[in-house]
Amino acid sequence: MRSNVGSRIITRPSSTDPIPVGQPSPAAELPASRLAGEGSAANTTPLGRDLPAAQRLLEVYHRLFAAYGPQAWWPGGDDPFAVAVGAILTQIVSWRNVEIALANLRAAGAMTPRALIALPIEELESLVRPAGYYTVKARRLRAFAQMLVDEFSGDPSRLFALPMPELRAKLLATHGIGEETADDIVVYAAGQPSFVVDAYTVRLFSRLELTPKTLGSASRGVVLRYGDWQRLFMDHLVPDAALSNEYHALIVRHGVVRCRKRDPRCGDCPLLELCPAGREHLAAPRATRGPRTIEAVG
Ligand code: SF4
Repeated sequence: MRSNVGSRIITRPSSTDPIPVGQPSPAAELPASRLAGEGSAANTTPLGRDLPAAQRLLEVYHRLFAAYGPQAWWPGGDDPFAVAVGAILTQIVSWRNVEIALANLRAAGAMTPRALIALPIEELESLVRPAGYYTVKARRLRAFAQMLVDEFSGDPSRLFALPMPELRAKLLATHGIGEETADDIVVYAAGQPSFVVDAYTVRLFSRLELTPKTLGSASRGVVLRYGDWQRLFMDHLVPDAALSNEYHALIVRHGVVRCRKRDPRCGDCPLLELCPAGREHLAAPRATRGPRTIEAVG
């Protein structure tokens, strides 16, 4: 269903949405020595194409963090079950609408697996209606909650304590949970390392020409799939939940604020020095400038 991430709809909390705020992610404090690669790429410029992939990925992270600071997405102090519910509801809708649905569920006392499955489906649909596609999403929520009750005694912490591959597989086997949602839950609800790939990720790293094809982990000519993009990060960065949390949030922030699909703000972009597409965009006569699309870079 979501094998081709480039075609999916962007559905993440954005910098203009009221993202849940808590303590800054500890990724803010990550020394580069905790990350894979051959040393820190921080504060080194420019970054040549011959440098290892890990350093290039780290350079992007450090520049984004320097520009935007900690994003504090779904911090650990939140109710992990509510975070997972939000991850399921946020597909194809703005975070603002998800927040209304989450508030409805809390007000109805339905923010536990057992309470959620006890609701008549029509009532559940009504509560999550603000999140759009409410009939579909109500059934996905119910399937998730039912799985928790049937297999984990209704205790989300028991699910989230599974080793990451097992946790991810369990989520993917649950009705309506695809790869992006599963990784959202792994990273933001369970606090385990994975990497969330979405349309912002594909667009940015395509423009930077840091892709599974350019870095050699996928053959040219093949259609890149979610797993190809995810391996780009998982293979080159040390597994670290805080880094996964912060990096993805920064990518989304950058995609909303500057690296927009149309009319990207390349002139003041902290990644311009690393970005062939951005330099090409600025060099083109204004009248002929067009967005470099996801599909333009393989
Ligand atoms: S320079 Fe432009 S295209 Fe490149 S990352 Fe920045 S905003 Fe995106």
